[in-house]
Amino acid sequence: MCISESQRPSQQKITYVKDAFAYMDKDGIYLHEDLPNYPALHRAILGHENDHQQGGFTVKDLLLDLKGGLPKEELKAFKKAHPWVVLRMMSPINKFGTNYNLLIIYILLIGLVYGTMRLVLWIGANLL
Ligand SMILES: [Zn+2]
Repeated sequence: MCISESQRPSQQKITYVKDAFAYMDKDGIYLHEDLPNYPALHRAILGHENDHQQGGFTVKDLLLDLKGGLPKEELKAFKKAHPWVVLRMMSPINKFGTNYNLLIIYILLIGLVYGTMRLVLWIGANLL
């Protein structure tokens, strides 16, 4: 399925691909070829990729990725139809490069789990 120029909410060049969910590089935005069949998700992802800064990492980008806010029902349906595509994009280092935002989010989560574990162990040893 192809989206005509006038329907595009974006000035970026959009390329539909088979093996990625959504990502952006200096040449434009890449979206999975099946995304147009999930209109709300397609719109949300396109808006998200357009909100990203071009080139380099910024805190604004990180906050954008933490925000989430994709349409849940269509995201669920897409994940069910394309589990490997979604799983691959959840890996911070994949064949499309390194997703530093995702890497930072994982490091923060691991730190949070580790910190909570240490706190629970400390409470157990000192307060109980
Ligand atoms: Zn993002």
